[in-house]
Amino acid sequence: MKLLIKNGRVIDPAQNRDGIFDILCVDGKVHRVEKKISLLGSDENPAQPVRGAGVRGAPEAPPTIIDAKGLVVAPGFIDLHTHLREPGYEYKEDLKSGTEAAAAGGFTTVLCMANTQPVNDNAVITEFIVRKAREVGLVRVVPVGAISKGLEGKSLAEIGQMADAGIIGVSDDGRCVMDSALMRKAMQYARGFNLLVISHAEDEDLSGPGSINEGLVATELGLPGSPNAAEEIIVARDIALAELTRARLHVAHLSTRGSLDLVRAAKKRGVAVTCEVTPHHLMLTDEAVRGYRTEASMRPPLRSAEDVAALRKGLKEGVIDAIATDHAPHASFEKEVEFVKAAHGLVGLETALPLCLKLVEEKVIRLPDLVSLLSTRPAKIAGFKGRGTLKVGSEADVTIFDPEEKRKIDASRFRSKSRNTPFDGWSVKGRVHYTLVAGKVVYE
Ligand SMILES: [Zn+2]
Repeated sequence: MKLLIKNGRVIDPAQNRDGIFDILCVDGKVHRVEKKISLLGSDENPAQPVRGAGVRGAPEAPPTIIDAKGLVVAPGFIDLHTHLREPGYEYKEDLKSGTEAAAAGGFTTVLCMANTQPVNDNAVITEFIVRKAREVGLVRVVPVGAISKGLEGKSLAEIGQMADAGIIGVSDDGRCVMDSALMRKAMQYARGFNLLVISHAEDEDLSGPGSINEGLVATELGLPGSPNAAEEIIVARDIALAELTRARLHVAHLSTRGSLDLVRAAKKRGVAVTCEVTPHHLMLTDEAVRGYRTEASMRPPLRSAEDVAALRKGLKEGVIDAIATDHAPHASFEKEVEFVKAAHGLVGLETALPLCLKLVEEKVIRLPDLVSLLSTRPAKIAGFKGRGTLKVGSEADVTIFDPEEKRKIDASRFRSKSRNTPFDGWSVKGRVHYTLVAGKVVYE
């Protein structure tokens, strides 16, 4: 199986490559990356079968050719943080609709969180997710196992058995592990199985209902806010525990300046800590909640302008390792309710690239930095060998997009089953043209 991508601007941060190249993919791998690859009439691959060349059967099928002129060809995007909702909440999303949304957004690998029903806290559920995602056959789905049984924060989930079944990390995401001794134990286990520990950092006693930032907007709206400290207390604790256990810690959806300072300082000390931010925490402040807009209700909440400025600075400096969507689909009846009762989160897979391209346009980061934050560095964090790069021999997971195409975000056209986004109707630039997984076109 051959596929040739021609004339695209190949951006591969892992190799410091940014230029016009052709890429030939053979049997799911990157086979050649050169200035010009011509298959027709070359010695290696004659266009016509040579007469009398033997009785080896039919000539090879001609390669698929993608003309990527004017487009960016990047290693496939890797989302470290999605909620695909299956099993249990298929009315919000399922493995098929969720991976269709991922493919449409340019993602070739997604990590899915454990807060399904039943919870992914044992190998049976992990195996179900892995098998079902394979049957759907679009993008690569890698489950994250729960830290605690039932996400209840009381006793450890079956971490070792889930590791055998295919999880690459553990997290109670959606909930915070409030018991520090349990979190320590989880880190010790995780280290033994070489798993990533992903922290949803939120002191639940302090955050309360917690889907709006504590500050002027919350006061004016008369809503109970969650202070930055609710996040920073747990970030500090988990860094301390990572130092104690030497586990690999990844801070999910980091949202405050203080958390960023903690991560920056820990990295300087050599702690194995990484962090992600979401596009919405980079694009919106708590002002977006005015009018009691439940599309902007989330945990951690949208923060102040100073926090957003600090996160953008953190991106520029490289302290932030990845951009992750925290894709959190909810049905409209769960959002069209009183603010404090609304489900938290927003769908993000299909809006991540155009939103992030605004950061490039506003000169916060350069385009190769963005590719790195969406692909190269997430691959490294998750420990995916042969992904996050277009090196010869790596997986032919490729995202091909036009960074300049102007359009409007239209939630009614999402592949996702859910429409909960505060970005509906936004004017953006950037569209994914093709998504390839193992050399196969999964979105066009
Ligand atoms: Zn979370």
